[in-house]
Amino acid sequence: MDAPVPHLAIFPSPGMGHLIPLVEFAKRLVLHHHITVTFIVPSDHPPSKPQKSLLDSLPSGIDHTFLPLVSFHDLPHESKIETIISLTVSRSLPSLKNVLKSMVTNSNLVGLVVDLFGTDAFDLAREFNISPYIFFPSTAMVLSFALFLPKLDESVAGEYGDLQEPIQIPGCIPIHGKNLLDPVQDRKDEAYKWTFHNMKRYVLSDGIFLNSFPELEPGAIKFLREEKQGKPPVYPIGPLVRIDSNGSNETGECLKWLDEQPNGSVLYVSFGSGGTLSSHQINELAMGLEMSGQRFIWVVRSPSDKVANATYFNVHSHDDPFDFLPEGFVERMKNRGLVVPSWAPQTQILSHSSTGAFLTHCGWNSTLEAVVNGVPLIAWPLYAEQKMNAVMLTEEIKVALWPKMNEKKGIVEKEEIWKVVKAVLEGEEGKTVREKMKELKEAGERAVGEDGLSTKIVCEMVEKWKNKIST
Ligand code: UDP
Repeated sequence: MDAPVPHLAIFPSPGMGHLIPLVEFAKRLVLHHHITVTFIVPSDHPPSKPQKSLLDSLPSGIDHTFLPLVSFHDLPHESKIETIISLTVSRSLPSLKNVLKSMVTNSNLVGLVVDLFGTDAFDLAREFNISPYIFFPSTAMVLSFALFLPKLDESVAGEYGDLQEPIQIPGCIPIHGKNLLDPVQDRKDEAYKWTFHNMKRYVLSDGIFLNSFPELEPGAIKFLREEKQGKPPVYPIGPLVRIDSNGSNETGECLKWLDEQPNGSVLYVSFGSGGTLSSHQINELAMGLEMSGQRFIWVVRSPSDKVANATYFNVHSHDDPFDFLPEGFVERMKNRGLVVPSWAPQTQILSHSSTGAFLTHCGWNSTLEAVVNGVPLIAWPLYAEQKMNAVMLTEEIKVALWPKMNEKKGIVEKEEIWKVVKAVLEGEEGKTVREKMKELKEAGERAVGEDGLSTKIVCEMVEKWKNKIST
């Protein structure tokens, strides 16, 4: 008789940046260890095109089910994404409970994995006697901050951004309060309350899977791995990245265009799934790229003058993003720049030999995708925890250059853009960051290789789950 197969439920909170690494995690478990996984997906709107095509492309052994849509009619218009994400989770709990109930009856359900905003589901996991886990799709630095937040909240009276001295997060380089993640910048906002609520509950998990590896964040991971009361076990299982960003019309065009460019000559410019720039900034970036004289692929979105994450829940905007570029730009750039609307096959672009650097919003998946391909970075953080990532990437591991913003105007000006683009593709600084990236690429390969730490940890967890169902 075949041995019983452990089953895992994954409950992703909204956002491609959460779903993509969770899918990679599931693939690792299913393809290498023959366990089975179901994604239970909450949302307040029907799935977006990239989300649907990602879930439809899952290999056998990974199922998905969409929960009934939740409604936000009662929410104030200005509610921040962290509030919306957390409420999507908490309002979906009754339907999650129904799905889990039938899973407990029909499979060997061993655990429920949530991400950084999903801790309200822990109580259900306990009720059904399965282990609650967190998959943390950001840095060890942000995780260390999360575990430290209850203490910080208690000891600081005002806003963290007003502190004169940098904050010392355990295991990390000191960081100014203003560079901490967005939802902790206004302690009176609901977004802070929800973020604090979730982070305070991290200690209730049976373990936290972290998409990072020790060579990338030595100090923070050493701290997180120290066994200490009141700290759940932390399992660094990274770098987990997507190999194929699924095909669209743009895929062929981008790759064909890249094939025709010289080795290491192209700058890839993208602000993740949610990032948007103001119209003034789009203009300035276009002019900076033009002045730099360098080759580029730029994923362009329609501007948002209000928030920097306008496409978080749906990457395709209603307007034609090209309408917002300077007049004649696409035509003038046609021999050395490719402009792609809204969404590009990022992982294929980053793994292409013509790609020489990546101007990124410093989302953690984008960063890891650059690391596994050894591509140096230009840091352009926009929202969420991206400033923290940019500080870590530029000041601690030194794999990125960070163009300076003209604080008065609130934009990065064209002269600064061309200077940094040139420096990373052609200058000495570019050489240094490229070499460091190459070292990290090799360390990342070792971590997920046969005897690597990530591989060992995943094997141990699977053994634990198998033992659980056989006893
Ligand atoms: N992505 C992509 N094409 C795009 C923009 C984003 O394939 O045009 C993918 C990217 O490869 C990454 C994810 O979307 O896997 C974005 O995650 P990240 O953590 O970098 O940023 P977020 O979107 O969560 O801000």
